[in-house]
This record gives sequence, structure tokens and C-alpha cells, in this order.
Amino acid sequence: MMKDKIINALAALETDNLGKSFPLDYCLPLYHTVSDQDLPHIRNVIRYKTTKQFEQDLDYISQHFQFVDWREFKDFTSGNFKPKKKIALLTFDDGFSEFYDIIAPILERKGIYACNFINPAFVDNQDMMFRCKASLLADAVEKKKTIDPEIYVALSLGDTDKPTLKKKILSINYQERDILNGLAEKLEVDFKAYSAEYKPYLSFEELKTLTHKGFGISSHSWDHPKYKDLSLKEQMETTDQTFAYLKDNGFLYESFAFPFTDFQVRKEFFDELFKNEEIFCSFGCAGVKLDSEKRNFQRIPMEMGESGEAILKKEVAYFKLKKLINKNTILRK
Ligand SMILES: [Zn+2]
Repeated sequence: MMKDKIINALAALETDNLGKSFPLDYCLPLYHTVSDQDLPHIRNVIRYKTTKQFEQDLDYISQHFQFVDWREFKDFTSGNFKPKKKIALLTFDDGFSEFYDIIAPILERKGIYACNFINPAFVDNQDMMFRCKASLLADAVEKKKTIDPEIYVALSLGDTDKPTLKKKILSINYQERDILNGLAEKLEVDFKAYSAEYKPYLSFEELKTLTHKGFGISSHSWDHPKYKDLSLKEQMETTDQTFAYLKDNGFLYESFAFPFTDFQVRKEFFDELFKNEEIFCSFGCAGVKLDSEKRNFQRIPMEMGESGEAILKKEVAYFKLKKLINKNTILRK
């Protein structure tokens, strides 16, 4: 793609002083998980990093930014915290179990705070997000020698080849998610048994322990719908239900990170969200970008198959390019 070529060329020109060239005074990296293992329920939907790659990212970010905790981030945004460098707030989405076993120990060793935005529906592995189910099914398709022809019929697929089938399964959305249960039966995948054996998500006890250790556990909606596909009423139901869960259980209830994306989420949602005066801010994941909603902060997806250094340099280059054409602020109507 032409756009990629231009961005790569511009990124190569970025100086090594990223802290200086970074166009905003805050950097908000976003991860989902970190693992040296092959995770069938994640690997087809997220390009997560190894522990070594993750530590390299953290070391790079630490060189140019000052990692802050939730209190400092809040104080910073209200002008009451004066950092030595530009700040970085580390965030994770989805509440995967590696946060307890792998990530938290690394962060404790390095003295870095992080907030994990979770879905209460999946705590204690009561259920699995539909994208993870799709990833498991795509995995099963890959491994199976023969595929029941009924599966192609059920998905109204003309082509009967595995890559087409995998692609179709991975394109199933939140509203269509019940289809996955039928497919699982035909592909002999047992989501419940998988959950019980591998425990992909954090348990309630682990969330409590993480909170006591000083990490943030905050809202990512109840069960991970795409907000632009919901009515305002549905958006508020899933948001409010999660807020109440976090507050009742002593977690970090004052923030919210959009599941998937805040793309095409309208101003009316933010107006409604911030009527709750206990909500301090929300987070999207559009990269280095400004937002007409001043309390909606955009984070940088770090699982793009590249090093943190390459991703951040590209983000800076892309921001500068968009600035030239006045397109670095998301406008909401
Ligand atoms: Zn998510």
C-alpha cells in the first residue's frame, strides 16, 4: 500500500529522541496479553508478544517516557502532576489470565503500573468472548483432516476450502455469536471443557489480589460488544452494569475502555456516560490521535507484529502527516 510506504519512509526519518518528537504529552500503550506459549483461543485474533518482546517494548518506552500510575495519570490530566518526562500509562484489555501469571511479575520487577480493562461476563471463566471462540474454531478447522460439509452449508459458503471457512468463522460478529456454538458442536470443540482446562481469564480472586498489589481493574463493558452496533440504551445498559459490578467489588470503577473500538460512537453516548460523575475518563484505541471528546483518550495498539519502537515511530510520523491535512482529531456528532 502507498500509505504504508509513505509512513515507513517518514518513520525512518524520526529521530531517536522519541520523547521529544512525540506530539502529545502522554503515551497510552495498549496490549491484551503476553505469552511465550501458543494460545489457540487468542492466536487467530491477536498478535500478542513474547515476554522478551514485551520487556523490550517496556525498556524502550521507559527510555523516553515516565510510566505513571492511575492517581498520577488523573492528576496529570487535571494539571496537578508535573512529570520529568512525558508520561506513559500502560493498559491491557480483556482480563486474560497471563496478566496474573506472566505480566504482573514483570511489571512488579520493573516497578510499572498497569490497568486491565475486563469484562465481568468472563471472570472466573464462566464464558469466553466470542472472538476467542472463533479463534478456537479456526484452530480446529486447521487441524481437522475432513470438514463436515454441513458446516459450509450452515455458513452459506459456496467455496469449500479451509482458508475461506476460517475467514468466515473469524468474521462472525457479536450479534451473530450464537452461530459459534452450533459450529463448535460440528467441529467437536467444547468451549466449556477448554475454559475449565486452560482458564483463559482471570479469576475473581486474582482480580482482588491484583488490586491489592496496586494494579487497576476497570471496565471494558459486560461482554465485549461493538458499541457502534448497539442502540444508546444497549450501550448504557452494558456500561452501567459493569460500573456497578466494579464499584460493588472495590475495583477501579472510574474509567471505561471501549471493547473493539469507539469508531462511529456518537456524542450522545459520551454525554450520557459522563452524566455519571464518578466516571473520570474513557479510552479508545485509534493510536496517537486527539478526540473532540476531551475525556476520551486514544491508546496505541502495540500488537501489530512489530517492535514497540517501530510502532511508536510510525505513530508519530502518521500523526504529523495527518496534522498537515487537519485530520488528527476524531470529531463526534
Ligand atoms: Zn477487548
